[in-house]
Amino acid sequence: MNMKTAIITGITGQDGSYLSELLLQNNYHVIGLRRKTSYAQAENIQHLHGRIDLVYGDLLDSFSLAEAIRKYQPDEIYNLASQSYPGESWRLAIETGEITGLGAHRLFEVVRHVKPDCKIYQASSSEMFGEVKQSPQNEQTPFLPVNPYAAAKVYAHNVAKIYAKSYNLFITRGILFNHESPRRGLHFLTQKVTYGAACVKLGIKDSPAQNEQYEPIVNDGKIALGNLDAQRDWGYAKDYVEAIWLMVQQENPGDFVIGTGKIRTVREFCETAFSYVGLNWRDHILIDQRFVRPTETGPTVADPTKAAEVLGWRPKTSFSDMVASMVESNIQKLKKIQ
Ligand code: NAP
Repeated sequence: MNMKTAIITGITGQDGSYLSELLLQNNYHVIGLRRKTSYAQAENIQHLHGRIDLVYGDLLDSFSLAEAIRKYQPDEIYNLASQSYPGESWRLAIETGEITGLGAHRLFEVVRHVKPDCKIYQASSSEMFGEVKQSPQNEQTPFLPVNPYAAAKVYAHNVAKIYAKSYNLFITRGILFNHESPRRGLHFLTQKVTYGAACVKLGIKDSPAQNEQYEPIVNDGKIALGNLDAQRDWGYAKDYVEAIWLMVQQENPGDFVIGTGKIRTVREFCETAFSYVGLNWRDHILIDQRFVRPTETGPTVADPTKAAEVLGWRPKTSFSDMVASMVESNIQKLKKIQ
């Protein structure tokens, strides 16, 4: 079988690193696009050094995308790059629109001109369901975005669909529900909690890592969070990149909802993380209004029936195993710098 070539935007992120591993296992030539600012911090892909090629590429810069696509002539492009923090997208509203919305559009436009037979994966999000009116959500559920991130994702999703139909491009759209792992960025709620639980367990009262307010994530033994009643469907990132790859192997593009179908509150997440280290979460979590979103996304929970039927995909990793792996990984990393 011929070796396939894939370009991944957002390769330094959580999903980009797991997807790279999966593609390498499947004998792909993997090219990662990295923007200039990410040269210093590529912890997630350090272990892949020498097995993947990295080139400059920024979703803000069409020429960099065209150059990479022209040079490598990829069979598949996975567009994972994004300003990916929904909670931060009010503060970074224009940047979010530029990268997450227009950035995807730039990529589709370049592919249309340079390599129209290339298959594209677009990373859509359950955040697009926003103010949910029906539960669980499937591929027919309307999008009612409630934050700038979700609005930008809806824009990219719609353009992906329009380009697929109008120009006969293969642009498939994965509507992924929250997925986590030890490689999740530290400003995401799940990492704050698991990192915090690890710090407290190790007796670290003021953590070296900071939150988005430039304060220690663990401040005097406490972790500041927003809305503990928020409800999400959380799965494991490594399982989800398998679904991403399967979508691109289909004959036709489409929308695919990927999630576990189980809903949990932030409170339950805290409870699971702290009980892994034998502690009571109530002693270490406090509510800080600065972390409450101006508008909260409704209770999102997936109906992944289509993914099971068409892709044969099902999540493998349990919620408690996923949370445990995140706390454990933070404990091991902190021990190295203690
Ligand atoms: P992530 O860890 O935050 O990674 C985002 C990636 O985008 C990073 O590699 C970042 O590079 C890159 N990036 C940001 N701005 C860029 C630009 N202007 N040009 C090129 N690259 C840029 O995100 P993730 O969790 O892996 O998620 C992957 C994708 O799925 C994202 O589009 C996200 O919005 C979407 N999604 C994620 C979830 C989830 O729960 N994880 C759910 C649904 C959808 P730097 O290293 O330079 O910052």
